[in-house]
Amino acid sequence: MGKKKDDTVWPVTKDDAEWRNQLTPKQYHVTREAGTERAFSGPNWDAKTPGTYHCICCNEPLFVSDTKYDSGTGWPSFFQPITPEAVAERADNSLFMKRTEVVCSNCGAHLGHVFPDGPPPTGQRYCMNGTAMRLEPTTPEPADTQAEN
Ligand SMILES: [Zn+2]
Repeated sequence: MGKKKDDTVWPVTKDDAEWRNQLTPKQYHVTREAGTERAFSGPNWDAKTPGTYHCICCNEPLFVSDTKYDSGTGWPSFFQPITPEAVAERADNSLFMKRTEVVCSNCGAHLGHVFPDGPPPTGQRYCMNGTAMRLEPTTPEPADTQAEN
C-alpha cells in the first residue's frame, strides 16, 4: 500500500526524553503514543467550568467551554476547536476502523478523534482525551467583581 511516512514538522518539537520528563506517564501515553484514556476516567469529561482547554504538551489553546457538550461518551466532547488552525486532522486507519485523528497543530500531540455525528452548528464531534488538555478556568474581570459587590 506504500503508506507515506508522516514527516510533519511541528512548530514545537522536543525529543522523546524531554516529553517523558515533562509529562506524566499517562499524559505521555495519550499524547505521544496516541493512547486513549478509559471513558469516564480522564479529567474534565463532565466539566462545565467556563474556560479554555490548553494542550498539556505545549500550552496552546485548543478548545473553549462554550463549544463543549455532553455527548454521553465519557470523554470531553466539543463541536469545534477554538480556531480551525488550532488542531490538525489526519486519517487514522488503525484498529481496522476509518477514523480521523485530531492532533495539536503546534506540537503534534494526539488529542483524540473527530466524528461526523455531533450537534449543530457544525455536526462534528471532537471526542478528546481529557488527559491531553488542561482546563484554564475563565477568571472574571476584576472590575466586574467589584461592581457586583
Ligand atoms: Zn500542543
